Amino acid sequence: MTVPALHLANVCRAYTQGENTVTVLSGVDLTLNPGEMVALVAPSGAGKSTLLHIAGLLEHPDTGEVFIGETATAGLDDLARTKLRRTDIGFVYQFHHLLPEFSAKENVVLPQRIAGLSVPEAEARAAEILGFLGLSHRIEHRPGELSGGEQQRVAIARAVANTPRLLLADEPTGNLDPVTGEHVFATLSALVKQSGLAALVATHNLELAQRMDRRITLKEGRVVDLP
Ligand code: ADP
Repeated sequence: MTVPALHLANVCRAYTQGENTVTVLSGVDLTLNPGEMVALVAPSGAGKSTLLHIAGLLEHPDTGEVFIGETATAGLDDLARTKLRRTDIGFVYQFHHLLPEFSAKENVVLPQRIAGLSVPEAEARAAEILGFLGLSHRIEHRPGELSGGEQQRVAIARAVANTPRLLLADEPTGNLDPVTGEHVFATLSALVKQSGLAALVATHNLELAQRMDRRITLKEGRVVDLP
């Protein structure tokens, strides 16, 4: 049986501000299988970021369980959660957040060094992923010398540097013009299929959402399938 990359079971999350409690997630069930790319489409305030943060082990649910692969995470301490995040989860944001003083290659090497790989191993892997993403000729450039689309592809390379099983992306093409966004999306999509990682992509772009394997939304704190 396939082990899901991500499984959320009855996840609930509410925020309390003073006397007010805002219930954001009220029983989220969600399973992402390896190689699957799922669009998360919902209006602002629906809870997309909360869902991504909980799936990415950046935030705890109030109740419910988050499985990353076979690992149940609710009972893990912060160190174990951080380790699992480093090895199993990659993040891509709307803005690339690359380190400006480092080259594309160094930005992709760094998370691998933190995960314990040697310099030659990390450099070989960085060259391989950047090559796959069409950036072989840019690996020594700093982010400031790259176009927006190239920067975002480096951010994707960094996110998958440690071969995570799960990629969480928040509007990864939201800051790009349509043609560049299309190129970045196509590259991301090819990477998901080639590597077998599972991707959950929050987006407002309905055209891109239609090209993913599935679409989901958040309604009254629960995940609902979209056509
Ligand atoms: P989205 O990403 O879909 O815009 P969010 O997950 O950011 O939605 O937010 C969902 C709701 O939870 C919003 O009403 C927001 O104001 C509230 N919220 C999010 N984070 C916090 C927080 N740290 N404290 C209080 N309220 C929050």
